[in-house]
Amino acid sequence: MNKLPKQQVFKDPLYGYIHVDYELIKKLINTTLFQRLRRVRQLSGVQMVFHGAEHSRFSHSLGVYEIANRFLTVPDVRNALSEREKLIFLCAALLHDIGHGAYSHAFEDIFGVNHEKIGAKLIESNKELSTLLNTIDKDFASDVASVIRKTKKFPLIEQLISSQLDVDRLDYLERDAYFTGAAYGHIDLDRLIRVMYIKNGQVVFKLSGIHAIENYLISRYHMYWQVYYHPVSRAYEVILEKIYLRVKDLLIMNFPFRGDVDALKKIIHNPRDLDNYLEIDDYYINGLIASFTKSTDDILRSLADDFLNRHIWGYINQTPENQDKIREIEQSYSKEELKYFTSYRTVENSTYKDDGENFGDKIYILLEDGQVSTLKDQSQIIASLMQSGKKTDPKFFYRKK
Ligand code: CA
Repeated sequence: MNKLPKQQVFKDPLYGYIHVDYELIKKLINTTLFQRLRRVRQLSGVQMVFHGAEHSRFSHSLGVYEIANRFLTVPDVRNALSEREKLIFLCAALLHDIGHGAYSHAFEDIFGVNHEKIGAKLIESNKELSTLLNTIDKDFASDVASVIRKTKKFPLIEQLISSQLDVDRLDYLERDAYFTGAAYGHIDLDRLIRVMYIKNGQVVFKLSGIHAIENYLISRYHMYWQVYYHPVSRAYEVILEKIYLRVKDLLIMNFPFRGDVDALKKIIHNPRDLDNYLEIDDYYINGLIASFTKSTDDILRSLADDFLNRHIWGYINQTPENQDKIREIEQSYSKEELKYFTSYRTVENSTYKDDGENFGDKIYILLEDGQVSTLKDQSQIIASLMQSGKKTDPKFFYRKK
């Protein structure tokens, strides 16, 4: 667990500096796989509404690492983890998105892959990454992967990496708010860290910090509805999904593509071919889509043109009153057009739920007498927001004629 002779820093717009003390972390950042994250945007589609949102998974991953680093300044967290476990925590934070592909939500839906599973597998089996991790000891890579897989081998670390209030969400909400310019996503990170304790292996927050937690949850809710679920950005994602779908169908029909679709072809034949999966970054997909604008396939050409030139599709709320209108639009398409030019999509979100059975599904509050309570029981604001339940937004998307 060698430390660098001199601390290395990365300038970051949110945190000022990201601090690197361990030699291993520096080397992980320099791997091919981690550098690849520079070529994967954090938000796909959102930049069609909020043009500032061009930030990459590279900057997000460094940010998650830095928050983990700051969590380690909390005395309870520091004391609960051994030196080896601290390093596992930092590595898991840094590498938690290592399996992310380009425009991954649409991609994962159509090609049936999952970035968390791929990430854990890469940590164990990618030669450069696993060799580096295993310089600590022979089980180190598989222990870092186990945190991503949530096998409960390191329950506290898993909770810090992935729960209602974790290092991942804290970074992406603040970072996405910063780059989109949204006024809602700001979180009092310093305050949250100051009121954080560990009690019986669980993360708890002191009652006096409850407002920072309420603010975090409400910010999260606003970010979902204002940014992530913005209908224009969803409409743009639908176009991308339809491109993937058309490409997949054409590949199965052996259509003669102009662009180099080998990587996608291999994914269909062997979704477990990780080396091949890693070729698929934003550069590759954007290049392919540009080549599709000259395709001899009319459907693919139209979709690629929509994507590249921002011809956003129409959308209508899927309500009983709109049924006739939706049917009318559907009837104006041929069967084939219906498949590639229309889509029903629903998103949903609640401010906070605490009915999950999993570890980390609840936020715990530490009372002044040392007892542990839950956020729901201590916050009237959150309890009343929970009563309003889930907000759902079903929409019909269609290519305008
Ligand atoms: Ca993430």
